Amino acid sequence: MSTEISQAIRDALNNANRVLIVSHIRPDGDAIGATLGLGLALHAAGKTVRMVLADGLPRSFRFLKGSNSVHHRSRGEFDLSVVLDCSDLLRTGGVLIDRQPDINIDHHITNLNFARINLVMPEAVATSAILAEFLPVWGFKIDQDIANALLTGVVSDTIGFRTSNVTAHALHLAANLVESGADLPDLYNQALVRRSYEAALYWGQGLSRLNRKDRLIWTALTLEDRLKARYTGNDDADLINMLSTVDDMDISVIFVEQKEGHVKVSWRAQPGIDVSQIAFQFGGGGHAAAAGAEIQGSLDEVQEKVLQATFNMLESSSNHKNKNGNKTALASISTQGYQ
Ligand code: AMP
Ligand code: MN
Ligand code: MN
Repeated sequence: MSTEISQAIRDALNNANRVLIVSHIRPDGDAIGATLGLGLALHAAGKTVRMVLADGLPRSFRFLKGSNSVHHRSRGEFDLSVVLDCSDLLRTGGVLIDRQPDINIDHHITNLNFARINLVMPEAVATSAILAEFLPVWGFKIDQDIANALLTGVVSDTIGFRTSNVTAHALHLAANLVESGADLPDLYNQALVRRSYEAALYWGQGLSRLNRKDRLIWTALTLEDRLKARYTGNDDADLINMLSTVDDMDISVIFVEQKEGHVKVSWRAQPGIDVSQIAFQFGGGGHAAAAGAEIQGSLDEVQEKVLQATFNMLESSSNHKNKNGNKTALASISTQGYQ
């Protein structure tokens, strides 16, 4: 990451008065932590801030300060826009369509560098970790509320510091946030451990039709499952993270049926396997170990296409392994007929 980019962002943030901050639809802990972390820091510096998450904020993150000030839509004038934790502009859910954003801060390897100034660090464990590192460099103080928000982002994206990209640097940044007052055990529980009764019932629906073949494990969650369980979200209630704890599997996939004929797909991979490219080829994106896409079609159609493509990828990956004696991430597979 070049110092010019960092300096350009420092100048832009310091010179702005009204700032729009946006992150992605179906926000996860990092989208929320980064939005609140930057929003609270700019607010404390006297700026007028509008924080926007098109889907709002799930109840499980409303313990964070500032979460009541998050809006669903952009409104009014602003002189600077910042997009956080989004690999492409579609991810904002239509918040920013008519003008190029000023700043893009992200850690997705599939980021399209869509803004005027792009700070993209694929090695960072979370967008919140990038902010934890740079807010002080840009002249903003990290108080207790900001520290709680940013550490929630780090803890969420690393699933409690257990993803293979966690480094000493990431732990130092997290320790700094604890020193600034973040309550690690509390936010860890709120972000990763606690779940509603409805979410537990919903997991049950997905687990009751769990499938595996070779080293691939998958399941689906339907609109009807959500009704039955009275689960009000449109996501997988983090069931994918549970699937990825099952022994002897290389890749886990979950299919979440959505209204309007499309399906949200999430992939998780063990270290050494890259699912970001397959997600990208289906119009989504993400990281080597965790990626997702929104795919048009019925649940059955999407399952068939995605499972086939994922099997093909695993197969070529293991052929590669046989040839070279070690497992290598595959950057490309044939996508004919899938795009
Ligand atoms: P998820 O499976 O939604 O938990 O997402 C796993 C990772 O992939 C996260 O870093 C997401 O930001 C990213 N991701 C998920 N869905 C998409 C999408 N439609 N487009 C781009 N990136 C995505
Ligand atoms: Mn995210
Ligand atoms: Mn993230």
